[in-house]
Amino acid sequence: MRFDILTIFPGFFDSVLDYGILKRAQVTGQVQVARHDLRDFTHDRHRTVDDRPFGGGEGMVLKAEPIFDAFESLGLSAKEQRDTSRETVIMLSAQGRPFSQSMAHELAGMDRVVILCGRYEGIDERVNEMLCDREVSIGDYVLSGGELAAAILVDAVVRLLPGALGNPDSARFESFGAEDVAEESMTTDGVPRATHGSGGLLEYPHYTRPAEFRGVPIPEALMSGNHEVIKRWRRRMSLEKTLRNRPDLLEKATLTDDDERTLRKLRAGIRGAMEQEM
Ligand code: SAM
Repeated sequence: MRFDILTIFPGFFDSVLDYGILKRAQVTGQVQVARHDLRDFTHDRHRTVDDRPFGGGEGMVLKAEPIFDAFESLGLSAKEQRDTSRETVIMLSAQGRPFSQSMAHELAGMDRVVILCGRYEGIDERVNEMLCDREVSIGDYVLSGGELAAAILVDAVVRLLPGALGNPDSARFESFGAEDVAEESMTTDGVPRATHGSGGLLEYPHYTRPAEFRGVPIPEALMSGNHEVIKRWRRRMSLEKTLRNRPDLLEKATLTDDDERTLRKLRAGIRGAMEQEM
């Protein structure tokens, strides 16, 4: 898989791409991340990439011309002829569609992803209209540039590539896991699993040794050695964490009757605690 990142700060990516899974995937040739300096596609002495906005207002806007020239140098197909299931061009923008784990899975199935990083007030909108397939935001806040957002997107996608993670199950049994693998999670070669697909929930909490730290022991269920008990505890914790931090996810999550019962109890507990506080 190949990423092409268009930016005015190509050096930004030198360190972020040089660690862990991202580094390994590049060393093994599984992924290639090319960085292109937009200033290399300017034609004036000052290597100008920005200009004032039409209509007035604060700040500067990235000009269309260097971006179009950079795109042409990449040998991409024209927007209308592009097979967007194999290659896609993304404009990073606070105004874009929210990036998500399911978008990361979709991108991980592509051969090529081109990412355009904005700066200043943003990018001349004709670039979006004429070159880009999608406008993507990594969250409801404004960054000073698209580079951090690009690094996040590349990281989230690369770890999903086959073989990128030491254990491929790690990318299946984790927060936002799109698939509900509850059935499959019952057995692996006949051995009961203590983990389960999140079915859209947040993942349960993890603990490691020592079993007691500064007087705080790990939850008893995790010491039981009983896969069923552990699995039930983890599911309950997933539901609890999702209810507390991201209740919006519960609306789309795959929930069993047992889950609904647990949620009713958790909600009643939360209500009770709030009433006591009042
Ligand atoms: N004036 C823009 C607005 O109000 O939406 C914000 C521009 S921002 C300062 C400069 C660049 O940072 C954007 O062009 C975009 O590439 C990037 N950026 C900022 N916030 C982002 C976000 N939440 N997701 C993705 N990219 C973002």
